[in-house]
Amino acid sequence: MQVLKFGGTSVGSAKAIEQVCHILKQYKPAGRYAIIVSALGGVTDKLIRCGQLAGQGQEDYKNVLLEIETRHLDAIRELFPITAQSGQISQLKKKLNALENLCDGIFQVGELSPRSLDKIMSYGELMSCVIVAEKLKQKGFSAACKDSRELIVTDNNFGHATVNFIATNHNIAQFFAQQPADYVVLPGFVAASNEGETTTLGRGGSDYTAAIVAAAVHASVLDIWTDVSGMMTADPRIVSQAIPISHISYEEAMELSHFGAKVIYPPTIQPVMDKRIPIWIKNTFAPEDHGTLIQDSADRSFPVTGISGIQHIALLTLEGSGMVGIPGFSKRLFESLLQERINVILITQSSSEHSITVGIHETDMLKAKTAVDSEFAQEIHDKRIEPLLVEKDLCIVAVVGDKMKNHHGTSGKLFGTLGRNGVNVRAIAQGSTEKNISAVINKADLKKALNVMHETFFETPLKQVNLFIAGVGNVGSKLLEQLQQQQNYLQNELGLQIRVTGLANSKYTLLSESGIGLNNWRQQLEQGNEMNIPAFVAQIKAMNLRNSVFVDNTASSEVAAVYHEFLQHGISVVTCNKIACSSDYSYYRQLKDLARRFNASFLFETNVGAGLPVINTLNDLIRSGDKVHSIEAVLSGSLNFVFNHFVNGTSFREVVKAAQDEGYTEPDPRIDLSGKDVMRKILILARESGAAIEMDEITNYSFLPDACLDAASVPDFYDQLDVHAQHFQELRSAAAADGKRLKFVARYEDGKASVGLQSVAPDHPFYKLEGKDNIVLYTTSRYQEQPLIVKGAGAGADVTASGIFADIIRSARL
Ligand code: ADP
Ligand code: ASP
Ligand code: MG
Repeated sequence: MQVLKFGGTSVGSAKAIEQVCHILKQYKPAGRYAIIVSALGGVTDKLIRCGQLAGQGQEDYKNVLLEIETRHLDAIRELFPITAQSGQISQLKKKLNALENLCDGIFQVGELSPRSLDKIMSYGELMSCVIVAEKLKQKGFSAACKDSRELIVTDNNFGHATVNFIATNHNIAQFFAQQPADYVVLPGFVAASNEGETTTLGRGGSDYTAAIVAAAVHASVLDIWTDVSGMMTADPRIVSQAIPISHISYEEAMELSHFGAKVIYPPTIQPVMDKRIPIWIKNTFAPEDHGTLIQDSADRSFPVTGISGIQHIALLTLEGSGMVGIPGFSKRLFESLLQERINVILITQSSSEHSITVGIHETDMLKAKTAVDSEFAQEIHDKRIEPLLVEKDLCIVAVVGDKMKNHHGTSGKLFGTLGRNGVNVRAIAQGSTEKNISAVINKADLKKALNVMHETFFETPLKQVNLFIAGVGNVGSKLLEQLQQQQNYLQNELGLQIRVTGLANSKYTLLSESGIGLNNWRQQLEQGNEMNIPAFVAQIKAMNLRNSVFVDNTASSEVAAVYHEFLQHGISVVTCNKIACSSDYSYYRQLKDLARRFNASFLFETNVGAGLPVINTLNDLIRSGDKVHSIEAVLSGSLNFVFNHFVNGTSFREVVKAAQDEGYTEPDPRIDLSGKDVMRKILILARESGAAIEMDEITNYSFLPDACLDAASVPDFYDQLDVHAQHFQELRSAAAADGKRLKFVARYEDGKASVGLQSVAPDHPFYKLEGKDNIVLYTTSRYQEQPLIVKGAGAGADVTASGIFADIIRSARL
């Protein structure tokens, strides 16, 4: 005999019930079948709502009843020809009338007892099973309907009744021995107590009914037909990348379902496992899909089979010096919870026995607190233990797999993954069978945690990176262009799937969890929300996406001022904006420390020399134990351009103007000419070398006369350059007379930094520095004779964007 179960969605509409008939036709015609059905999808929730409203004295329950009636009538009208409908409808009406009387009674009394609620809930399955059985008959199957309440005997723990297997097995075996029909349809979920009162087996309990029947008749197989193609590596509603597991052992399936994989009700496995009956989980709406086979052991080499999560968890901690070495504390704790029928989901105990922590469902939290505190009232009074500590708003995530015990490093991988993504672990449990490792985390982190865990254990080598990009001007738009061009390369070669999940300019912000299409990002951004930095930051944090990186392509001090908020949230920051790193040392230090503490990256290679590896080279030297003696550098592409073109016969004014027209200077060229920009850069290099130095400690030997610096406007500034033309010519000719060239040089040595104009001789590495290139000389313990030189294009949107790109990749591969 075979036992089949069809869940709520599988019988949720006339169309679905037709599909059930179609599936049954594929089974062997000569076989005998027990078919367990759920209520039409969503009906149990409605019945509960109906009972609750009636119990609260709210007449709205009548509307809910009406919805339930319409739902079933619609199904009947669609499923049967008019001539066959009246019999069906009158059967249904009888049940609905009884249900209505029950609800009216509850409404009158104004109280919904667990006993009445079970009775109400049972109508869902009682109605669906008649409809399915009649449809089968109409299709020519030899079908009959049997009320499970006449077979399954339980205690009277309403809502979660415990089965009396001896009586139940006997009833079921006897019934099927005499039953002539080949296809017997039974309502899932419902049962009856010894006294004949209707009970239920717990939400999702139709699976359990099917397992009970399968075990009692020694079925050859139990097929569970549902709305997904098997038990999946994670809950597909939370992890979109989840894939079906083709084979899984009973123990693994049990662990996964116990830890939240709703596709199968946890108690279901036990009765069939005891009899070694295989379970197939199949998709009613894609019957050709393989599905999942649950049986003795699954032959697999990889350690983790699936991951799951349970929401609404509270942690109870019993703690105190009075517990150490004294037996019986845990026993009393668990007994007091048991007395209140509180289900313990997870247990951890510190090896010092100083504390014991258990995870329970949040709804039981207050009951637990009262029960445990009263059990230990004397010890609490004597201050030998603390009152029970209760923490809520938590959830559990778990990795499950039979083979974990043979592999090292699974827990390291799990906690490393959570840690890198800023998920704080509150408690850990690993069963001694090592089939399961679970962690208690904040409920706000559930989605992120499950997704990164899935990525780590199932999706390697693809890692998804979520970018939030502020600033889409020259550099930002180039970056987006490069990201779009490189998408395939990143996926295929580096295993990175980079998605732009946020964009902002000074006017608008746009966020999309599934990624912003890069073909028309401009139009999309213009439809976005008005820019508001605090709101943008709050939204990014609330999205709580894994592997998030905030990219700052602006020159805004407001944006630079929020980096710490991202880092504190485990969101990496990549920036070409120099403001944060060149502001107060304390902020720079705070950002570096936060990045370390929260396992995020804070990368700003493009702050100095655009895409040139200036900061990375310095970091590598220091990290490998080298010591910086001095840094000498030309760090301004604009100043280098100006002085390279300032030759005999030109005026300083016209050279500066040309540089500005070419886009090599800031709109106000004084930012470059004053040396301020170079000061920021050498400040950052000094700080990266280990100096706790501030901007005002840097000496600026400015070559610009004060009158130029103080000019009221940019045109006035140009006039002042003409006024002081002689000054500039003298600087140039003095250098030329010695065969030297003018370079604007930044220097750092012995904790002191300076910037200023310098004449360099032909044998100096700076002498031949062309165009707007940058050069940095590092003299270190290792590079004493000849400094280490980094040289190349040090400005331009293209190279800056590729420097940012490289930092993004660096942070993603951490
Ligand atoms: P039925 O009504 O058929 O019993 P359920 O809604 O009880 O169906 O269970 C199926 C649902 O379980 C799926 O639609 C899916 O959303 C959810 N689910 C949660 N975790 C998993 C998992 N690991 N694998 C498959 N489905 C899961
Ligand atoms: N109808 C019940 C519920 O929704 C039982 C089931 O579908 O398994 O919980
Ligand atoms: Mg179910």
